[in-house]
Amino acid sequence: MKKILVIGSLNLDMTVQVDHTPVVGETILSNKMEMNAGGKGANQACALGKLGADVIMLGAVGRDMYADIQMDSLNKAGVDTTRVIVKDEVSTGIALITVNRDGDNSIIVVSGANATLSKQDIDDNLDVIKESDIVIFQLEVPLETVCYAAGIAKKMGKMVILDPAPVPKNFPDELYHHVDIIKPNETELGMLTGVDNPEEHLEKAAACLRKKGVKDVIVTLGEKGVYLDDKISGAERIPAMKVQAVDTTAAGDSFTAALAIMLAEGKGLREAAIFANYVSAIVVTRKGAQSSIPTLEEVKRYIE
Ligand code: ATP
Repeated sequence: MKKILVIGSLNLDMTVQVDHTPVVGETILSNKMEMNAGGKGANQACALGKLGADVIMLGAVGRDMYADIQMDSLNKAGVDTTRVIVKDEVSTGIALITVNRDGDNSIIVVSGANATLSKQDIDDNLDVIKESDIVIFQLEVPLETVCYAAGIAKKMGKMVILDPAPVPKNFPDELYHHVDIIKPNETELGMLTGVDNPEEHLEKAAACLRKKGVKDVIVTLGEKGVYLDDKISGAERIPAMKVQAVDTTAAGDSFTAALAIMLAEGKGLREAAIFANYVSAIVVTRKGAQSSIPTLEEVKRYIE
């Protein structure tokens, strides 16, 4: 089986239910708080593990109980966590999320150990890049580390997939040259290309990314599905499955993971996107992040 490496963030999501979002200077009470493993990198690794991939995670956590919750979730999903670096001087990344009675959220992310993932950490783990076939990145760890590691992976002949979230102000053009497949959502596509209303101009926006050096572009469009611009099969829109969505957390992360696992099995981008569409459709019908990701058996049953 081909090996997939995820280089990225690990967070602990603390979600607090509140009546209303507090304003400046206000203190409010809540009677419900949940702690769940999150972070785009960890969510993608978890999804890969649950879908049966041979997956290893490279990232950083602190030496604290938050890391234990995260490690437990990844280990249960079958992810190799031996390359998750424990840093003594910082905390594990934490996302403080309030959800009000209307379901609207506000989020503060404490990057913690994620912000310390360095070029040196990459150099210390070159062997695992070498052993992998596909390397997946997101942008919740330092941009210069992502650029550096993606450059190395590309030079080693690996397939590089980038989920460009969150989009930084100073996205370096150099990074595009290291990327085989980029998977923005509609908003990220607009931010990366400067194209207004990208949903109406998908072809133009995708062409803009290809011009910058990316091979294939796949844009997720939420309940509207996916837009695919692939060198082999050309441009196409694939509709989303019709489901009753209750929580879209991790929809994009599970999509990226599902795409990668199919590519690792030698499938084309179109087939991979169709499979990913099924996986994410299940995810949005369940509450939570990593807990909402289905196993391969569940996906197979859903497809039948
Ligand atoms: P998130 O940041 O919430 O993880 P995202 O913005 O990166 O998500 P989306 O484009 O919202 O990603 O969704 C990813 C994929 O999930 C879609 O392409 C689609 O396959 C699936 N999906 C999302 N919302 C729905 C929905 N309401 N019904 C069916 N499928 C959905």
